[in-house]
Parts: sequence; C-alpha cells; structure tokens
Amino acid sequence: MAKLLKGQETALSISEGLGARVAKLKENDVIPRLAIVRLGENPSDISYEKGAIKRAALTEVEAEVFQLPQETSQDELLGLISKLNDDENIHGILIFRPLPKHIDDKVVKNALNPQKDVDGITDLSLSGVFADSDVGFPPCTAQACIEILEYYGIDIKGKRIVVIGRSLVIGKPVAMLMMKRNATISVCHRSTKPQDLKDLCRSADIILAAAGAAKNFGKDLAVSGQIIIDVGINVDENGKLCGDVDFEAVEPLVEAITPVPGGVGSVTTAVLMKHVVEAAERQSRLI
Ligand code: NAD
Repeated sequence: MAKLLKGQETALSISEGLGARVAKLKENDVIPRLAIVRLGENPSDISYEKGAIKRAALTEVEAEVFQLPQETSQDELLGLISKLNDDENIHGILIFRPLPKHIDDKVVKNALNPQKDVDGITDLSLSGVFADSDVGFPPCTAQACIEILEYYGIDIKGKRIVVIGRSLVIGKPVAMLMMKRNATISVCHRSTKPQDLKDLCRSADIILAAAGAAKNFGKDLAVSGQIIIDVGINVDENGKLCGDVDFEAVEPLVEAITPVPGGVGSVTTAVLMKHVVEAAERQSRLI
C-alpha cells in the first residue's frame, strides 16, 4: 500500500510555522492582512473563501472580503484594486478568477501590485518565479506541491519528474520551482504523443498530474517506487470529487500518493497565509 501524502498535515505544519513570524510582526505593530476580491456568487469561489477565512483565523492573519456584483464594470474593479494597492494596511490581495466575460482578465490581473500578489497571477510575479527573484509570489497551488514534498522529506534533487499540464497556475510554475530544487523536469501537455507521455511517466521518479482530466492517468503510466502528486480536482461520473490519477488503480503500485480530496487542495490556503505573512514582512522591511 502506498503512503498517503496528506494535505491537512502539511497545512498544519505550515500554519504552526507562521506563529512566531506573526508574533514578530505584531510586536512591530503590523497585523498581516489579506483582501479577498470576489465578483458574483460562484459556489467554488465561496467554498475556497470560507476555507481561506478559517485558515486566516488559525494563523492570526486578518482577512477581509470585498464582494462585488457579477455585473461590476472593469473600471470599478480597477478602482478597488488601486485602492487596495495603495492601502498600506493591506499586505496581500486575492482575486477570484475567471472574471466575468465583460472584464479583461489580463488588464485586471496586471493592475495588482506584484508585492501584494500573494497568488502569483501577475506577469511580474511569474517572472519572479522564472528569474528566481522575490518580485512577487508563486501561485499557491504550485507552491503547495513543493510544500507537500518538503513536509514528507522527499528530496527531489536529481530526480526525474514529469509534470502533466502547462498552465500558468500550476504546470509551468511548478516545473520552474522544481528545477530550482535541482530536479530534472519534463513537461507534457495535450499535444504530447501518448506513447511519449507513457514512456516519460514510466521512467520518472515523480509524476505530478495537473491536467484537469478525471481519473485519466492509470496504471499503464505508473511503476513501483514512484511518487504521485495529483493536483487535479474533478468530478467523476458519479458526481464524486476525484483527481487526474486513477487512484484505485495506481495507489497499490506506487510508493506514495496524494489523495483527492485531502491532498494538494488542502495545502493551498496555508500557503496563501504564508505568502500574506511574507508580504507583510517585506512591506514592513522586517526581512
Ligand atoms: P488548465 O485547463 O488551465 O490546464 C490544463 C493543462 O493540462 C493544459 O496545459 C493541457 O494541455 C494539459 N492537459 C489536459 N489534458 C491532458 C491530457 N489528457 N494529457 C496531457 N496533458 C493534458 O487547468 P489548470 O487550471 O492548470 O488546472 C488543472 C487541474 O488542477 C484541474 O483539475 C483543476 O481543477 C486543478 N486545480 C487544483 C487546485 C488545487 O488547489 N489542488 C488549484 C487549481 C487547479
């Protein structure tokens, strides 16, 4: 049976690690604050928001929700972002996306001050991930994958890792974060030939699946001894949450695997708080 790499345990460890840092900020009269900007009533946004607020309370980060109607104009939204950028009591800003269709995503996301971009959505934040500078922050989900590996003491130096998916939220940044840790990375995507995907996966030490394809990657891709990080959050044919990996088929084969739910998804709000605390430290010149 594979070892389960549990998100809750990783998240708890991250949250506990923030205690002393938040205390130091408070000694310096700084309360780390997160602004959450949500347009409309998307149930998955609301569910994530609830989780983020709970995690904020646990880590003594203050979180404030700025909820706007779905039909809010782009100018109104840009006005709010500009106000939050200028507010020195706000250290991090999270904007739920996708935004409604009448709003230009590129314009809005890049209006964010990268120093407050705690979920790594601005081009500048992502350039920081690629250039290895702290201009912003990596996307929380990409960083959550790294945190799980670190929490379980999995050293990726020199390991062969296949990342399936090349989005800006997960695939591309996580590949960079792993390369920075000296792993050898292959990135696969929809145009990768099935046989190449199979060959690369079967010769990998670690497979990170971030494709958004329910139970798509099965035992033909996995071999014994591998570590599987399943980032996918999908709904299966019975309406149940599932990952990109066919857990029932793959789990008996491999050494360790993240469950879905209960894996990577459980770590992202803890990473978000870590980024808010770090943003507060940077902005207060405490690091
Ligand atoms: P996306 O649609 O933006 O990107 C998917 C990528 O996977 C693309 O690069 C595509 O080329 C590739 N891909 C799709 N099907 C493939 C296949 N069959 N073989 C090889 N490559 C394939 O998706 P995203 O935003 O990166 O999200 C990916 C998954 O991660 C989704 O299930 C999403 O729900 C989940 N997700 C999880 C979290 C979390 O906190 N755990 C956060 C964000 C997204």
